Amino acid sequence: MSFRKLPLHGKILLSLLLGAVVGTLAQSFYPDQAALKTFSEGYVRPVGDAFMRMIFMIVVPLLFSALTLGVCEIGDARKVGRVGVYSLLLTLLLSGTAVVIGVTAVNWVRPGDGISTEKREELLEASGFKADATKHVETAKSESKTFMQVIVEFIPRNPLAEANRALEGGLLPLMFFAVVFGLAMNAAAGDKVAPIKSFMAGLFEISLKVIEFAMKLAPIGVFALIFHTTAIVGLSLFLPLGKYVAVVLATLALHQFGVYSLALKFIARRNPLEFFRQIRTVMLTAFATSSSNATLPTALRSAEVDVGLPRNISSFVLTVGATANQNGTALFEGVTVLFLAQLFGGDLSLEMQFQVMGLAILAGVGTAGVPGGAWPMIALIVGMTGAPPESIAIVLGIDRILDMSRTVLNVTGDITIAACVTRLDGGKGFAESAAVPEPTGGA
Ligand code: ASP
Repeated sequence: MSFRKLPLHGKILLSLLLGAVVGTLAQSFYPDQAALKTFSEGYVRPVGDAFMRMIFMIVVPLLFSALTLGVCEIGDARKVGRVGVYSLLLTLLLSGTAVVIGVTAVNWVRPGDGISTEKREELLEASGFKADATKHVETAKSESKTFMQVIVEFIPRNPLAEANRALEGGLLPLMFFAVVFGLAMNAAAGDKVAPIKSFMAGLFEISLKVIEFAMKLAPIGVFALIFHTTAIVGLSLFLPLGKYVAVVLATLALHQFGVYSLALKFIARRNPLEFFRQIRTVMLTAFATSSSNATLPTALRSAEVDVGLPRNISSFVLTVGATANQNGTALFEGVTVLFLAQLFGGDLSLEMQFQVMGLAILAGVGTAGVPGGAWPMIALIVGMTGAPPESIAIVLGIDRILDMSRTVLNVTGDITIAACVTRLDGGKGFAESAAVPEPTGGA
């Protein structure tokens, strides 16, 4: 079969593999590493960035139209509330399980113990990520707020300002506005409101089309993203951190294939293997882009077309979940904070570990669904444990690969919750929700 005729997930997978192989070969054999880095940063990374920007530019219109329509079609506030409560409970359950799995494993394997103080300092020097670490620490400091402040700021004073900083934390308040707008659109239904409703439906269709255009670039974009990652991050950074990386990946895999399978089987009453097969393009897109928000359009389409979930429920659960449900991130934050504490010789008390777990669950809700979105929150929690917050530089150097993996969980978790909520809510679809047009990208 020629490359052109391959379905989209086949193309993405092939680009992933090719990018990884070529990048690793270049990293291992190209004699001038500095030149390789300059080349990759100058010419390859921009190609990957262009692909990501094509997707990000449509996130705000897509999210706003999907959420207002979803809420409006779910209907009355009580039903929206019920779907919301189910989603919230499942988010807490799945994130809680994820963090417990991660923290148990990190206490058991103790990946931080085997690394000497000299090696640790060496890694900090070699990571080349000190400046990024300091930036995250600064963001964390400027963003630390009281609990009440966090709750109140959920309600935006100016939704347009939040839309402006959507990818830097504005999405949650913007979603709040969209939910209220959707509820009002339903409550005010009538001739005067009808044009706005069809405007939103049109905006949603157009947004999906833009994504379809962007996804045509996916094979090239994905190749560039993966090449850049593998060409710059060599094994030299991975090896000393091998045990930590193994704990992160093994626990992520356990959650992905163990816990989600149980939820799918016993709550959503679906065959887990079949489900994972149906959402394979979504998982690949999440892996390639490291961003829940960039994967949202693919997830919306796949939930409806491949998994057969009713559009109003999936658009609500997935849109909110892309930012607010991040099980993989919660797990990763728990593991990383404890790992850095072990590395700096401070064993955390049980009480402190529970605090870290609670914060990691909350962090899963508050983390932006963009590459590396987890880091300001990790810097904040690390600071509380007594390890120097800048120590996150040690892990930042290899984060892209871990980020790709945890984002797969974040997105699988959203669709799993959507499937569970659909079942808990009686599995009904809604007559008025029009079907998503067949993808022409071959997804
Ligand atoms: N990249 C993740 C996401 O978009 C967030 C993170 O864990 O950094 O879901």
